[in-house]
Amino acid sequence: MIISNGLPLHGECCGIGYSITCNICQKEITGTYSVDYWGNCFHTEHSKEYPKCEYCGRIISKSMTKGSKKYDDGRDICSICLALTINTINARSIQQCYEIVSNIFGYYGITLDKNIPIKLSNKQELKDLQQKRKSNDVLGLASGDEVYILTGMPIVLFIKVLAHELMHVWTYRNCPNIKDMNSRLCEGTANLASYLTLIQIKDNYAKLFIDSLMNDPDKIYGDGFRLALQRYKRAGMKKYLQMLKQYNDFY
Ligand SMILES: [Zn+2]
Ligand SMILES: [Zn+2]
Ligand SMILES: [Zn+2]
Repeated sequence: MIISNGLPLHGECCGIGYSITCNICQKEITGTYSVDYWGNCFHTEHSKEYPKCEYCGRIISKSMTKGSKKYDDGRDICSICLALTINTINARSIQQCYEIVSNIFGYYGITLDKNIPIKLSNKQELKDLQQKRKSNDVLGLASGDEVYILTGMPIVLFIKVLAHELMHVWTYRNCPNIKDMNSRLCEGTANLASYLTLIQIKDNYAKLFIDSLMNDPDKIYGDGFRLALQRYKRAGMKKYLQMLKQYNDFY
């Protein structure tokens, strides 16, 4: 038996000698097939037939994700992720997420102020707020002393984005050279804060978002993060924060 909790565990477990059932159409798989991050096996051709969930990458289907929802702004979110989202209905959880991030930051010696307003926004509001930046895919931003985060994301992604934006706020408030700071250092540091938060959360979503940070090809966000991680591992957080306060770039 290769089924555990109704789902196959890993790609390898779906292998040789067993008959494999497609998690999407429920028919037997005979030829080559795909396995997603969550261990679902399916006929490869389904990836062209159905949309993917924007957040977990699962192929949206009745049997695998119990359907999905399409947000007004066009995002497809599967029902599994939908059950885990932060939105205006459960806005009280925002404070709990803030406590989680704030505690983890404290563990690394980063002290956050208590009075940072955190607001949920839709895609259009975020676009209007970001003005100069060109990115279409903005999930959150720190504008002055406030933090704005896209509504309707799974809680672990919300926490990842919250950690990123709160690190920006910390930097604004504590680094006199913020105006001249290289964006590689600025965004790399914010992503480092996301990473350090995610590794404290024992959850498969956290692992997925850590992977995406590690493999981000972006010159500023990805390279910046990897430089920041390297520096943090070598010097520790205390020295890292000293560098951030004194310099405009990695030195
Ligand atoms: Zn199939
Ligand atoms: Zn999903
Ligand atoms: Zn940022």
